[in-house]
Amino acid sequence: MKITEKRLQDIGEFGLIAKIRNWMDVSRSDLIRGIGDDAAVVESGKKALLITTDILIEDIHFERSWTDPFRLGKKALAVNLSDIAAMGGIPKYFLISIGLPKHLSFSFISLFYRGLKDAARRFGVDLIGGDTSLSRKIIINICLIGEGKKGNLLFRNGAKIGDDLYVSGTLGDAALGLKVLQDKRLRKKPKGLVERHLSPVPRIELGQALAGKRFASAMIDVSDGLLSDTLHIIEESKVGARIWEDRIPLSGPYRRWVSTYSKDPYRIALSGGEDYELLFTASPKRKAGILSLARSLAIPITHVGEIIPEKERLHLIRKDGKEISPRRFGFDHFK
Ligand code: ADP
Ligand code: MG
Repeated sequence: MKITEKRLQDIGEFGLIAKIRNWMDVSRSDLIRGIGDDAAVVESGKKALLITTDILIEDIHFERSWTDPFRLGKKALAVNLSDIAAMGGIPKYFLISIGLPKHLSFSFISLFYRGLKDAARRFGVDLIGGDTSLSRKIIINICLIGEGKKGNLLFRNGAKIGDDLYVSGTLGDAALGLKVLQDKRLRKKPKGLVERHLSPVPRIELGQALAGKRFASAMIDVSDGLLSDTLHIIEESKVGARIWEDRIPLSGPYRRWVSTYSKDPYRIALSGGEDYELLFTASPKRKAGILSLARSLAIPITHVGEIIPEKERLHLIRKDGKEISPRRFGFDHFK
């Protein structure tokens, strides 16, 4: 019998991360949370230090023909800020490492740094270092450091049976925006959707408010898609979840454009990534407080599901009332 070697495409991105977690040891007693959350958490006196990193690679995460360097700089920082938002933390400092091709114009990189500065100013973070190298494609890696109160931070593993599941904003816009950008037939592209893909806004204030008021029990940012990120919460929390499809918040532009790219109007909102909204669980007792916070911050927050026992895993209640266990979840780099 021929034994075929396992490849990354067989185990997937999340299977690989689970392996890495097993291969490595944890030895330091001041580590509160290592691999397995949106940011690592380390004890630092009375406070907690938050550390996160994300990479953007040309032709994987972006194409130079779609985006301008200013927006790319803003987005590179925004995706990291979103992971600090998902913990309910305050972002502070960042380092950036860049790989650049020799022929890249100087104006590209100066505009990129202008975008970076724009986002840094808006969220009060300072660039403190990085690294620069030659590369065939553009590679951007940021490591962002933040801070939080130990008792307030929100992890992926705090969801309890009976909790409600909420999401901020609307879902699917960024993934639909990407389809629009890739669509060569389309001359006039719907701006709202394209902007959601190119210029995501991290929900820093909302994350801090949910943590500060202790409203939520678990939180993650929606970077891989609603189903996939719900799966991350329930796996870490050892619970199950039920999501009502017809409650998923959809924007006007999404509703107008989705039929061009999908027969099923919910598919892209369920499994499309990069919305960078916050997905969180909370005790039903917190409902009035959460809805009043949504009003005061003028950010829509929608009750989309509930937490159920672990053995029931992830269920989706379709619009016609049928209950299904989805097989395909969301974005995976290797699948
Ligand atoms: P996010 O989408 O919030 O950035 P990821 O899905 O990328 O989170 O990562 C999940 C967890 O796995 C995080 O704790 C992250 O730090 C960790 N992780 C991802 N890739 C690696 C890697 N190559 N080695 C070690 N840890 C990793
Ligand atoms: Mg995240």
